[in-house]
Amino acid sequence: MTERESTEPSVFTRILRGEIPGEILLQTDDAFVLRDIAPKAPVHLLVVPRTDAYRDVTELAAGDPRLLAHLVEVARTAAAQAGLDSFRLIFNTGLGAGQTVFHVHGHVLGDPAGSLDEDSMTAGMPGEGRDS
Ligand code: AMP
Repeated sequence: MTERESTEPSVFTRILRGEIPGEILLQTDDAFVLRDIAPKAPVHLLVVPRTDAYRDVTELAAGDPRLLAHLVEVARTAAAQAGLDSFRLIFNTGLGAGQTVFHVHGHVLGDPAGSLDEDSMTAGMPGEGRDS
């Protein structure tokens, strides 16, 4: 079952509450940054609003564009703290795009030592490794 079907608090809310373990690297009044448990790049962070009111980035953009802008700023700060000059910021949106946690979050991906492998863009996505 995906979190879309659940009425339980999201995994990110449970980490924020201290109910399950997680490495929180940065917090603001409205957002926090978590280290991804299954990294797809040398640095893989998740930037998450404290509120779980928005399931994906389209809902967040429509409902609270200032909070979306804040997430982007927090992503920039967290990337800099992780030693990244450049980073990729990805919001998987919907089941078909591989979204598994329906508490909006951005993936911050980067490599402090150099350039990101293109695989980090598609790792874990449906159809990964498919011939064509
Ligand atoms: P998405 O598939 O875009 O919804 O992203 C969900 C992300 O949450 C995945 O990259 C997971 O690896 C990550 N994730 C799931 N559970 C945890 C956890 N307990 N701590 C840290 N990251 C997690």
